Amino acid sequence: MEAIILLGGPGAGKGTLADFLKTQKGYLHISTGDMLRAAVKSGSEVGLEAKTCMEAGELVSDALILKIIKNRVAQEPAEAKFMFDGFPRTLEQAEGLHSLFAEIGGTISHVFNLDADRDILIRRLAARRTCRTCGAIYHVINMPPKVEGICDVDGGELYQRPDDSEETILNRLEVYAKQTAPLIGYYRAREIIHDLDAGGSADNTDQQALAIFV
Ligand code: AMP
Repeated sequence: MEAIILLGGPGAGKGTLADFLKTQKGYLHISTGDMLRAAVKSGSEVGLEAKTCMEAGELVSDALILKIIKNRVAQEPAEAKFMFDGFPRTLEQAEGLHSLFAEIGGTISHVFNLDADRDILIRRLAARRTCRTCGAIYHVINMPPKVEGICDVDGGELYQRPDDSEETILNRLEVYAKQTAPLIGYYRAREIIHDLDAGGSADNTDQQALAIFV
C-alpha cells in the first residue's frame, strides 16, 4: 500500500491538485473534509460529532479522524495508491498514520507542501465555490464554471461552504499555523517532503507536482 499526502493551509489548492493527480496518476482521493461533509449531510453519528467543530473552523478530534481513515483504508486492496488531502492535520494524526502503515505494510512516498501567502489564501477562499453533490471546486474569477452556479462535472448546485465565510477563514488559518504547520518539520526530518509554490495558477502547481514524479 502506497500513499502521498497533500499538506497546505486552507485555500492552498490541495483539492484542485488532488483532482489533477487522480486523473494523471490514478491515486484514490481521500479527503477527510469531504468525508466529514458527507457525514454531516447524512446526519450520521460521525456527522453529528463533527458538525460544530467544522462550522467554527476547528479541528475534529484525532480519535474520530483516525477511526475514519482506518475504516476507509481497510476497504481497499493492498495495491491501492492513496492520496490524503487534509489529513494528517496534527502530529497525533501523523503518528497514527505512521502506526497504521507500519501495521499494514504501507509506505508514504511523497508529501507535497503547498505553500502560498496568507493574503492569497484569504482571497481564494472567499471566491471559492463548491459543488454540493460531487465536491468539485471552482473560483468565481480564475476558474469559473461554464454556467454560473452550476457544476461542469455533474450539473450540481455550486455553493459557498459555510466555513469559507470571512470570520471562519481567519480561524482556520490560525488553526493551520498552530496545529498543522508543525507537520512540515515532521516530514522534512523524514526527507519525503517536496515544497510547491502554490501561489500561482492551478496549472502551475499541477506541473510542479507532476515534475516530482519523473
Ligand atoms: P477541509 O475540507 O479539508 O478544509 O476540512 C473542513 C473541516 O473539516 C476542517 O476545518 C475541520 O473542521 C474538519 N477536518 C477535515 N479534515 C480534518 C482532519 N484531518 N482533522 C481534523 N479535522 C478535520
